[in-house]
Parts: sequence; structure tokens; C-alpha cells
Amino acid sequence: MGKIIGIDLGTTNSCVAFVDNGEPRVIPNPEGSRTTPSVVSFAKDGERRVGSVAKRQGVTHPESTVFAIKRLMGLSFDSEQAQKHARLAPYRVVESERGDAWVQIEDKRYSPPEISAMVLEKMREVAESFLGEDVTDAIVTVPAYFNDAQRSATIAAGKIAGLEVRRIINEPTAAALAYGFEEKEGKRVAVYDLGGGTFDISILEIANGVFSVKSTAGDTHLGGEDIDNALVEELASRFQKSSGIDLRDDRVALQRLKEQAEKAKHELSSSLETEINLPFIASDETGPKHLETKLKRSELEILVSEIVDRTLGPCGQALTDAGIKREEIDEILLVGGQTRMPMVQSKVSDFFGKAPYKRVNPDEVVAMGAALQGAALAGEVEEMLLLDVTPLSLGVETGGGVFHKLIPRNTTVPTRAREIFTTSVDNQSFVPIHVLQGEREMSEDNKSLAKFELAPILPAPRGVPEIEVTFDIDADGVVNVSAKDLGTSREQAIRVVASSGLSEEDIKRIIEEADAYKTTDEKRRELAELRNAAEALLYTSERAVAECREMVPEDVVAQVEADIETLHQCIENGDAIAIRDSLETLELSAYKIAEAMYGSVDLEAQAEGEAQSDS
Ligand code: AMP
Repeated sequence: MGKIIGIDLGTTNSCVAFVDNGEPRVIPNPEGSRTTPSVVSFAKDGERRVGSVAKRQGVTHPESTVFAIKRLMGLSFDSEQAQKHARLAPYRVVESERGDAWVQIEDKRYSPPEISAMVLEKMREVAESFLGEDVTDAIVTVPAYFNDAQRSATIAAGKIAGLEVRRIINEPTAAALAYGFEEKEGKRVAVYDLGGGTFDISILEIANGVFSVKSTAGDTHLGGEDIDNALVEELASRFQKSSGIDLRDDRVALQRLKEQAEKAKHELSSSLETEINLPFIASDETGPKHLETKLKRSELEILVSEIVDRTLGPCGQALTDAGIKREEIDEILLVGGQTRMPMVQSKVSDFFGKAPYKRVNPDEVVAMGAALQGAALAGEVEEMLLLDVTPLSLGVETGGGVFHKLIPRNTTVPTRAREIFTTSVDNQSFVPIHVLQGEREMSEDNKSLAKFELAPILPAPRGVPEIEVTFDIDADGVVNVSAKDLGTSREQAIRVVASSGLSEEDIKRIIEEADAYKTTDEKRRELAELRNAAEALLYTSERAVAECREMVPEDVVAQVEADIETLHQCIENGDAIAIRDSLETLELSAYKIAEAMYGSVDLEAQAEGEAQSDS
């Protein structure tokens, strides 16, 4: 079996790692970076790009560049988070047939797993070109706080990318794996993970290769981008005050502003003041306008203090759920690029009453942990036992729309719960079941995972039929449901609408499309390479004709000129086979020029030699 790689599929950046001689190593991408922007851009000709090239395109073509797709994974279009994302994203967010939030670029719609698959595929390519072998299996990480739909959407993304996702593990657990890989004594660790789009806090106990998550909490819609957005707001209103122009109405200007805001934020992690310069950001009748302003670290801190404070509520919640006091935490691990911000570090230190552990790279530790888990599955390193928990309670809807919990949050997974269902009226032929995940009292406030009917039920007085429904949460945190009619002992087939928002058929279709895309992509590349070669040959042949016309027989020149013309025509028509054929023809006829030239040089040299010996 080949390597099982570890992929940290981040909101802003992704990272891939593998285990080399027992040690986790991050794989740099061909541009030499250890993380790759999770950005996909679509060009007019259908070509798509992933990574830093795509991120650059985002500045000029924001409407066809997809950033932060992780924020839409597994969301319904109507959800508050999807609506918020739709308002802020420069690309269009639309409603799919099933009511999920999808992305529309030009006239094509993409589901979030499809876009994530493009990022996963890129990470796989990065690994394959580095390792020099095919990679088929991966461990992919998700925020601990992801619900079933978000996890299923991530698994679907892996499938579309042609990867066997061997396990989905929680980002904080992965970080703890990389940190505590050799930890022998028991330690209580808090993993504080503030990335581009999500926040997670997990409390773990690590001892002798057993990683036991005690509790987890967080917010899937809180991260560095909220800080960027707050900064963009501030800069846009400063500009509006001075120029009267609202940059928020101009998508391209807004995207440039966003890039600069993020850059300024990074700089303020190490400096106390920075300058923001955006020449020609707008114009009015008085001419072009430039945005030039200074920002102090303290100003940024005042601006976003409230956002950072929002991470502390879940920290308290996680401690309470784990039954552990703040002072009992031995180590605090910081994960996610946003934890580089000094204010984040100081707020975390104040909260836990001790300084965080500094020796792990917050951008890489998650992928490294995932790679270790992959290596353990492949038998390359000692097996570690991961005891994760489900972040959200699982339950069903009961009378009056009340949410009835079957598996409370922070239960160690895999886990299982059983419930007997019956009828409420005589001769009822089916029982509808609505499965949900969340912490609110009323069903409508929680995330709906699936709705199905137990049927057929034999005619009987109400309350008599007994159907046992089993709810499983597997080690990936994904929910599975099965049912049994206790009267007949017959297994009930349950058709659960795929909670990733994509059915198996959808996934199959997308894979086929992706394969077709790959083929056209290869063809496009082949055509581009042929064009290149043809243009180079045309250049040298045309020069040869111009320079050597006098010294080469007329029929050779005429032939070359005719072949040049044909090749020009073929390039214009864009037919790869014809280009290749006429390229070969021109190569042969152009050789004749060289032959004639070198032939004449030889003859001249010979003639010269003869003249000398005569004298
Ligand atoms: P991640 O999702 O872990 O890749 O985290 C990305 C987030 O970290 C983005 O919002 C980045 O802007 C932010 N980030 C990265 N480096 C820094 C830094 N030096 N200072 C502040 N934020 C940073």
C-alpha cells in the first residue's frame, strides 16, 4: 500500500504532510510554499486554477474566484451563516434544488464539495509530485465542531477528488497528535484553534498513546476573516469620509482592499504600526483617488477585541463539559494562523492563566497530525488510539416540534443509541422520523440531518407497532441510521437523503464531469504545448527563409514557405492533430534549408581549400 497522506483542508490555506521514517513532514508545493491557498478560480475559457495563482486572479476577477468554500460546506441556503457568507463573498451564492448553498460562476453551478475537491486534488498533486508515486488514500481534517452534514460534505469532496478518505479527524485532535506523539506521561491539553474561518477548542487527555478528547466546543463561523472584514469596514469608512466614495459598492476595489487589510493584519502581528497604500482604488470627476492611511496595532486591537472575545465563551464551555478547571490544564496548544496575533495569545494566556506552548507551527501542526494518523493506519508507526467525541447532540423531533436528544454532545465516538418508535393513530401506515443535530430545545432551531419514513407498518391499533431505530455515530463523526420492526424482526430499509447535500448519483455525475474536465484539460495543455513548439519552429523557419533565400534552391524555399503557411492555418484552426502533422512537415522541409546551407558551406570550404592548394 502507498502512503496515506494527511491533508489539512483549511478555510484559507491547506497543507499536506506525510510520515518519513517515523517523522511527520510537510510537503512544499511546486512554488516552494508549505501551505497552499484554498482558492479556486475559473477563467473565461473554462480553465480553472487552484492555489496562489487563483488567489492572485481573485484580485482582478473576484466574481469568478472562490475563496473560503469551507464556510459553505454542508449548509442550507437559508441558514444564517450561508446568508452572511453570500452577503460578503464576491462570488454568487445560490440555492440548489435541495435547498443547499451552492456557488454560481458564470452559468455553471458548483456544490461546495465540488470546489473543495478541486483543492484536495491540488494537494494530492503536490504530494504525488513530491513523493514520485500515486497517492490514493488520505486522512482529512475538519473542525471539531463540524456537524454531520459538514463532515459528510468533506467525505464527498474526497470521493470527487478520487481520494479514499480513510478517516476524518478533528483538527485539534490532529494537532494534539503531532504535539503529543511521544508523550508518555498523562497530560491535559487545551487546543485553541483559530483559523481563517473557524474556531475550535478541545480539551484532551494524552497518556501512553491514547488521545482522549474530553470535550470540544467552538464556532464554525468565527475566524481570521471576521477580523479582515472588520478591518475592511474601518478602511472603507475612512476612505468614504475623505473621498465621499463607498468602496463597498465596487467588487474589484473591495477585493483589493481585503487583500491589503489581511496583509496589514499580518504585519501588525510583528510591528506596532503599518501603512496601507492602495493607489488608483477609485476615481470621480476630479480624477483618480488613492487610499493611503496608517494603522496602529492598538487600533486594530480595539476594532476586533470583541471578535476575539467571542472565542472565550466556547473555552469556558469546553472546560465545564470536560469537568476540568482552568488551572488543571497542563499545556495550551495554539493552532491556526490567526493565533499569531499577539492579542489572541494574550487573551488566551489571561483566560487559562498560563502562556501557550510555542514550539509548534500553527499552520502545519494539523496536517502533520493527520499524516501521523495515516501512518498509524498504514502500520508505519505505532497505532495510537484516538477517542474523539461528537461535538453536537443528536436527536429526533417529537410532538409539537420539540427536539428529543438521543446522544448528548461530547459522547465518545463511535457510539450508538436506540429508540423505539410507534404509531399515534390507529392503522397508521408509516412513522415519519426527523433526525437533527444541535443544542436548542426546538427542532426548527437545530440542523436537520435527514427526514425519512418507517414504512410499511401493518395495520394495528395505535401504540402497538414497535420499531426500533438505531442511530450510529462512526469514528469520523458521521451519522448512520437503521431500523428494525420488532413485531416482524424485519430490517426496515431507510432512505436517508444524503446529508452532504449530494446523493450518490450526484457524486458519480460530478466525478464523471471532473474526469471529462481532466481529459479536456490535458487536451488543452497538449494543444498549448504544440502551439508553443509550432510558434518556435515558425519563428526559426521564417528567419531562415529571410536570411538564406539567396543561398538555397528556389524549390526548397517555396516548399518551406508553403509549409509555413499551412502551419499558420492549422494554429488558427486549433486542431491539435493537424498542428502536429504540419509541424513535422515543416520540420522536414526546414531541414532542407539547413542541408542546403551547410552543403554550400562545405562546398565553399572545399572550393577554398582547392584554391589554396592550386596556388
Ligand atoms: P488557517 O485557516 O489556519 O490557515 O489560518 C488562516 C488565518 O490566519 C487567516 O485569517 C490569516 O489572515 C491569519 N494569519 C496568518 N498569519 C497571520 C499573522 N502573522 N498574523 C495574524 N493573522 C495571521
